[in-house]
Amino acid sequence: MARPVVAIVGRPNVGKSTLFNALAGERISIVKDTPGVTRDRIYADISWLNYDFTMIDTGGIEPDSKDIILSQMREQAQIAIDTADVIVFLVDVKQGLQDSDSKVADMLRRSHKPVVLVVNKVDSFERDMADVYEFYNLGIGDPIAISASSRLGFGDMLDVVCSYFPEPTENEEEDDTPRIAVIGKPNVGKSSLINKLCGEERVIVSDIAGTTRDAVDTKVRYNHKDYIFIDTAGLRRKSKIKEDLERYSIVRAVASVEKADVVIIMIDATEGVTEQDAKIAGIAHERGKGIIICVNKWDAIEKNDKTMKEHETKIRQILSFMPYASILFISVKSGQRLGKIYETIDAVIENNSMRIATGVLNEIVSEAVALQQPPTDKGKRLKIYYTTQVAVKPPTFVIFVNEKYLMHFSYVRYLENRIRDAFGFEGTSLKFIIRERK
Ligand code: GDP
Ligand code: GDP
Repeated sequence: MARPVVAIVGRPNVGKSTLFNALAGERISIVKDTPGVTRDRIYADISWLNYDFTMIDTGGIEPDSKDIILSQMREQAQIAIDTADVIVFLVDVKQGLQDSDSKVADMLRRSHKPVVLVVNKVDSFERDMADVYEFYNLGIGDPIAISASSRLGFGDMLDVVCSYFPEPTENEEEDDTPRIAVIGKPNVGKSSLINKLCGEERVIVSDIAGTTRDAVDTKVRYNHKDYIFIDTAGLRRKSKIKEDLERYSIVRAVASVEKADVVIIMIDATEGVTEQDAKIAGIAHERGKGIIICVNKWDAIEKNDKTMKEHETKIRQILSFMPYASILFISVKSGQRLGKIYETIDAVIENNSMRIATGVLNEIVSEAVALQQPPTDKGKRLKIYYTTQVAVKPPTFVIFVNEKYLMHFSYVRYLENRIRDAFGFEGTSLKFIIRERK
């Protein structure tokens, strides 16, 4: 099951960041060794009762002239419509109902997406409640009163938000069509790639049956197999707002990564890996998705027999947290190596959901331990009793040890490398959980 995505939309100063931070608390996503990712509070993992979801703050509007605010709000709302499962539309009881609120409400209503209208800064229910009712005029349902700064009303709000999530039902037949997200900076060639890969065989699919909202995903049949490319509508719709392009492409990336099995990270060969590429790659890594790095516009650079190796070294250096990623050097323009993409998708999916039998796994780990002694601390040595794979997507292993504190990060790396030597797992991260067994 993909995690539901909830987006917050609203005018500047209504309290979006305050709400986001209050909900996210310490659970803001952090990719430890990914440079740049930690600074942006763009998305966070939230748990409420037994629901888990990803919240994104579409944010990023600079309070400037009125026209600009409205056009940026429309942009923000469009991104939420394209990417979120539920939209929280935040308004401010102190500023009251504004014209731009009504315009955005119209847009949200037409999208047929679930929208939860939340009225912030209701610091005192007695004093402020009377002013909440005017927001009924927006025509998007009952306003829910909260105070983000005093953390009031969160329970009611989250109950309503979570009520829109699809219930995980047992008889729901698992659709195992691979879902692929193509992410990367503007102009790297994402839409061109999708157009080429999808060719004439495309069928636009909407992921919510029976709704009239914009179709966002494209289903393609290739070599007798189906593939779904995610958020293709978002790719066709180019952003008009320069200043926030970066934030918006990250917001989009987060939402589509969440729904994908495989993430194609596109890098422009003429520019190399940028900080923004690293941030986006970090998100896909953190989520344990299958990863393919496509270095595009390979036609546009001068090459000799060392160029490919040099590029690869540089990419591996900057994206050092994902040494397992598959790298392809492609040109959408000339068609070079595009055929290899489907092949790589298949391989990466297989690796991302591969299960290793416990017996074989423990043989490999024992051999590894025999070759390189586990770490010691003050005369006490780490003992590894048993290793077992407990999950796929990504493959997740539990290692039972005598003392957790003795397990050093570098030793986990070492074991990971031995496991990769034995089983491959190209294109997928691996997760390790260390447990004590007394
Ligand atoms: P954003 O631009 O929508 O992200 O808004 P911010 O989260 O930056 O908040 C704008 C201002 O409103 C800040 O000064 C906040 O402290 C204030 N604010 C946020 N939530 C509340 C609230 O519940 N009550 C009151 N009185 N002020 C709030
Ligand atoms: P997007 O913003 O990532 O969707 O990028 P587009 O698909 O719109 O492509 C941006 C620009 O790059 C367009 O002018 C494309 O023609 C160009 N482009 C895409 N792929 C290639 C390629 O392989 N080689 C060259 N030279 N240009 C490309």
